[in-house]
Amino acid sequence: MSLELHELFESNRRWAERIESREPGFFTRLLAQQSPQYMWIGCADSRVPANELVDLAPGEMFVHRNVANVVVHSDLNCLSVMQFAIDVLAVKHIIVVGHSGCGGVRAALADRRIGIADNWIRHVQDVRNRHIDFLVGVDAERRVDALCELNVIEQALNVCQTTVVQDAWLRGQELAVHGWCYGLADGLLRDLAMTVSDPLQAAAIYERALAGVRARYAGATA
Ligand SMILES: [Zn+2]
Repeated sequence: MSLELHELFESNRRWAERIESREPGFFTRLLAQQSPQYMWIGCADSRVPANELVDLAPGEMFVHRNVANVVVHSDLNCLSVMQFAIDVLAVKHIIVVGHSGCGGVRAALADRRIGIADNWIRHVQDVRNRHIDFLVGVDAERRVDALCELNVIEQALNVCQTTVVQDAWLRGQELAVHGWCYGLADGLLRDLAMTVSDPLQAAAIYERALAGVRARYAGATA
């Protein structure tokens, strides 16, 4: 084992050379300013790297990640990232991205204790409890993925309800909130039809997105 992690510095050097040879002056241009169109709120899981899976270069996506892509109204970390993204960078899209087989969601579903994160995952359990009548009817194999999708929709609604997003809409700033789910098995993103760009339509879109999950997982009842 190399304590200095030489292998990472070497691969970093190769990566920077590759980008610079493909696009001379790339890093110098980024130095001047970043102007990403997108903000990503995703899970910390190492299998879901934000930029890579949508094939975006540095400078194109503003990213916040935590366990199970949760958006809590009093989380100053997430709110600060969102506020900077909206007010300073003027991103046009905030995308909440969950993923199939999420460990945090699985733990929430099973009431499994894993440590400090139990307190964080409690928010996903709140989502589980809100939809428990539907979830008990879903085949056990698919229940984690159903809750992953419900969690994305609920967290996207939380994004819509933050003062930061509400204020942006109030002053007429162009901003859309999205809810997506990434499939670990095929590397593909799925749109959960939770796209909100107008506060007046949030409730109706939320209800339709929930109905979409119920329809997708219907027929899988035990
Ligand atoms: Zn996860």
